[in-house]
Amino acid sequence: MAVSDHVDLGGFIEGVRRRNPGQPEFAQAVQEVAEDIFDFIQDKEQYHRYQILRRIAEPDRVISFRVCWEDDKGNIRVQRGWRVQNNNSIGPYKGGIRFHPSVTESVLKFLAFEQTFKNALTGLPMGGGKGGANFNPKGKSDNEVMRFCQSFMNELYRYIGADIDVPAGDIGVGGREIGYMFGQYKRLTNEFTGVLTGKGLEYGGSLIRTEATGYGAVYFLRNMLATQKNSIEGKTVVISGSGNVATHAAEKINQLGGKVLTLSDSEGFIHDPAGIDQEKVNWIKDLKNKRRGRISEYAKEFKGSEFVAGKTPWGVVCDLALPCATQNELTGDDARTLVKNGCIAVSEGANMPTTLEGVHVFKDAQILFAPGKAANAGGVSVSGLEMSQNSARISWKEEELQRLLEDIMAGIHASCVEYGGRAGSKVTDYVRGANIAGFKKVADAMLAFGVV
Ligand code: NDP
Repeated sequence: MAVSDHVDLGGFIEGVRRRNPGQPEFAQAVQEVAEDIFDFIQDKEQYHRYQILRRIAEPDRVISFRVCWEDDKGNIRVQRGWRVQNNNSIGPYKGGIRFHPSVTESVLKFLAFEQTFKNALTGLPMGGGKGGANFNPKGKSDNEVMRFCQSFMNELYRYIGADIDVPAGDIGVGGREIGYMFGQYKRLTNEFTGVLTGKGLEYGGSLIRTEATGYGAVYFLRNMLATQKNSIEGKTVVISGSGNVATHAAEKINQLGGKVLTLSDSEGFIHDPAGIDQEKVNWIKDLKNKRRGRISEYAKEFKGSEFVAGKTPWGVVCDLALPCATQNELTGDDARTLVKNGCIAVSEGANMPTTLEGVHVFKDAQILFAPGKAANAGGVSVSGLEMSQNSARISWKEEELQRLLEDIMAGIHASCVEYGGRAGSKVTDYVRGANIAGFKKVADAMLAFGVV
């Protein structure tokens, strides 16, 4: 087939939308990648002939199942669970589990698709997957969460395994939930194996896994700034979210001399002009993990701060921004506001937090912009290291893991720089760099396997 006979970008996206009706998040994620890949593969006949992009954008399988559980009042509740196994060309499927009422097949397909490129970027042998349920852990008792996790695993255990598919945490799934799911897996299979990551340290977890995503996103930001002989020290930083990724990003920003002005949750954001220092971050961790409270409580605890209900923090003037809550939380208008206010760099701790329009605003303004698939890969990287430790039945020391995490983030940054050059632009296009570097690795493995 001549290159000119190939379907164009618009036709390709149209086909993705037609084949996946009612799945806007998935189509958005595919479009963001395809915009760069079409250009890259234009003169590379093999990728066209073997329909590589079309095949990566069709998950290997989507498993959907019923999850029944009993609440504390004796009511029988029914939820839907999924595991999307997108691509295992370079290693076992790997990706988190999300418990949130907004979870749909579309959201999990977008996350599994993104994960495929992210995992390739880490340089570790991991394919891409994602799972979850439309279960809301908020306001549930420990026993209710335990019963839900056990019921979820009663079905999921058939499809996962240390060499098949290794889930981890994500929104709504932290150490507590991983513990309940691992316990149930072990009970069902009578096997102690590294089938989940993010485990407790007592039973095979890796040091710094909890910190890795937030820390990694800040390391990536530091690496981007270094290309312009700049640093985090003395900069003001706006962060969204107040969960695992956001609190650890805030912690690392403090360690590197930046000043964190905001954090948020789904009800609004807190603004603390004095800075959210380490003591305050510890208070938030306790609030979220132990007391399961809301971020609005911060404003009552710390004088001089305010809680802004129902809003995101992007209007607060800052040098640097880290969206660390959820997908599509930073719109085109938000991006324009950040640029107008003098923001010089954005590092995505969350997955696809910036809308396509927002991404284009950042690219056009030529500010430093790191997409989640590169910037938040620190978490899955340490998960990959947890898999290695579990297989070898060893555990590495913290300093060793810190060094590996920094090295991996530096390697991802270098890959983005290698493929992210753009004629006429003075800054690296990190979106393009991440898309092409991730795609190339998976695509070349797929070519080696033939048509499967
Ligand atoms: P957590 O559940 O620990 O925290 C999520 C945070 O985001 C909470 O503050 C939550 O507020 C907020 N949030 C969730 N949904 C919404 C929404 N619809 N609107 C506004 N705020 C919302 O999750 P994580 O910190 O683990 O994950 C955050 C992001 O990072 C996700 O995009 C996730 O996919 C991504 N990520 C996480 C990794 C990890 O290692 N944990 C690895 C790589 C990426 P509330 O409590 O009100 O819901």
